Amino acid sequence: MQKKIYSALLGLLVSLTLSAADGKLTGTPIGSSPSVEYVNFTATYTENQPKDAFDGDMNTFYASYERSYTWVGLDLGSRHVITRVGWSPRNDGLGPGRMVLGVIEGANQPDFMDALPLYLIDTKGTVGQVDHADVDCSLGFRYVRYIGPNDARCNISELEFYGHKGEGDSTALYRPTNLPCVVIHTENNREPYDKVNYIESIVTIIGADGSILQDTAGLRLRGNASINFPKKPYRLKFNTKHKVLDSPAKAKNWTLINNYGDKTLMRNIVAFHVSEVCRMPYTPFCRPVDVLVNGEYKGCYQLCDKIEVKKGRVSIDEMTPTDLAGNALSGGYLWEIDGYANQEPSPYYSPHGVPVTLHSPDNDEIVPAQRSYFENYYRTMENAVYKSSANDTTWREYLDYTTFARYFLTNEVCGNPDMIWSCYMYKKRGDQKAYTGPVWDFDIAFDNDYRIYPASNHTQFIFAGASNAESFARHIVYADQRTRDEMTEYWHQARNSGIDTLSLLTFIDNTARALDASQRLNFMRWPILSQNVHMNPVALGSYAAEVDRLKNFLCMRIDWMDRKLGYTRRPFEGSTAVDNQQVNDNCRKIIRNGQLLIIRNGVEYTVTGEVRTGK
Ligand code: CA
Repeated sequence: MQKKIYSALLGLLVSLTLSAADGKLTGTPIGSSPSVEYVNFTATYTENQPKDAFDGDMNTFYASYERSYTWVGLDLGSRHVITRVGWSPRNDGLGPGRMVLGVIEGANQPDFMDALPLYLIDTKGTVGQVDHADVDCSLGFRYVRYIGPNDARCNISELEFYGHKGEGDSTALYRPTNLPCVVIHTENNREPYDKVNYIESIVTIIGADGSILQDTAGLRLRGNASINFPKKPYRLKFNTKHKVLDSPAKAKNWTLINNYGDKTLMRNIVAFHVSEVCRMPYTPFCRPVDVLVNGEYKGCYQLCDKIEVKKGRVSIDEMTPTDLAGNALSGGYLWEIDGYANQEPSPYYSPHGVPVTLHSPDNDEIVPAQRSYFENYYRTMENAVYKSSANDTTWREYLDYTTFARYFLTNEVCGNPDMIWSCYMYKKRGDQKAYTGPVWDFDIAFDNDYRIYPASNHTQFIFAGASNAESFARHIVYADQRTRDEMTEYWHQARNSGIDTLSLLTFIDNTARALDASQRLNFMRWPILSQNVHMNPVALGSYAAEVDRLKNFLCMRIDWMDRKLGYTRRPFEGSTAVDNQQVNDNCRKIIRNGQLLIIRNGVEYTVTGEVRTGK
């Protein structure tokens, strides 16, 4: 024991000695193209050079020619572990705010492709004075730099690095918040520009447990409606397969969901949790992360699976072009009822006019025998569904009702208007049933779509529109009494295994706490809390209010689903005091300051257990 204490003290002494020795570092100033100054109407590049950020003079500054992704730094000549940084904004009226969300990075490649963040500036600076922050990154870097936030032209008076010479190690890496951080650098700072062409990149994923994954990857845009927002959604394609964070799948393809219109930044997270509770066979892997692209903070994203046929994802046989007959030809197939099918290279329109995109085998790999098999199969399955009645249940031989019902309930309780607009389905080899799922894309769910807001005013299910695809779904939902009873039974199972008000509100509260530091940065980068964007019906001006709105929606929606499905309360393990207060239709549920309250006969009760509107 004494030995341990002695060695701890020695360690402390060594680190104190090192810090004391951590002087201000010098090196060769480097940076992106400096701003242009006009002298006698002639452009010169002699002013505001990288060296001006390291001359100790508050009145000289570095400014860049381009508005964004621009930077200034030092080549230290050899690797150094950075322990402290200092900065001061350009000495002018705009100064204090213009370095907010600026990022300080270290790299060992002169092009900064392998750079990792050292510090993210999240408060206003001080004109005429250098502010400092300690850096918690044990890795050594030769090249260090400051990248200005979006549209700021860098504009920095002074930049300081402190540290000591050394290779360091990766025992401590910096992340801007408690969340994992995805750090992307693209070749020549190129911005991804479409959904086809990948930009060569180096991607580093720093886990909350200190893990690090760095590899080359392609980066491109993804998504449909979401692609048009200023905060872009991305597809990552690593050159080799990796598990990322705690993912079940080892894969090349990953998605970064942008959550621009979802001000809670958690609609997908909550919906995927509901999908798991509803026992869908596969729910996409999804983790909230902070994203940096070329040294610019892009916001809070969700790092998710790509929906594809793969072990740990849609785990069915993956077809090859030689699967041409018999059992081999029978699957697996992964397709999507797809409202955007007309934007795909070869969409399939069923006899009943349902638009379908076949994802696996995809358009590049599929051979004619497989396409023809799939289209025949789809026609047979669809015909059976359209003939469904109490007297004709053939459709059950072609469609797995369990996955359909659980997909349906997950989407309905989350109030997802896109549930049939985009609906993944798959067929296994040697099995003639179509299975529904996985669930995907809930950014306009949970009362976030002005077209149907508020959902609690509707008497019909969310899916019940007039499209051909919705008509297909209607033939399943209302096939016969047995089918409707089974749906109620699946709802009963879900209600007794985690789809209850208190469990879901607790899940949301925990998620909001985990996202808190990241949402603060996200809405500094995208100050839209008071604006309606995408399909927003309202904008409440604060993150907490948006989270409360989500909670309120779920409280109301669970009651609505109970009534709609004719679900009556049954004995429930985990009943609590509140259950026993005979909560009934005369009670009102409200959320105040994030807390669920019941008001009965004018008396407020704080809820500590499950609450149901009993019949
Ligand atoms: Ca200066």
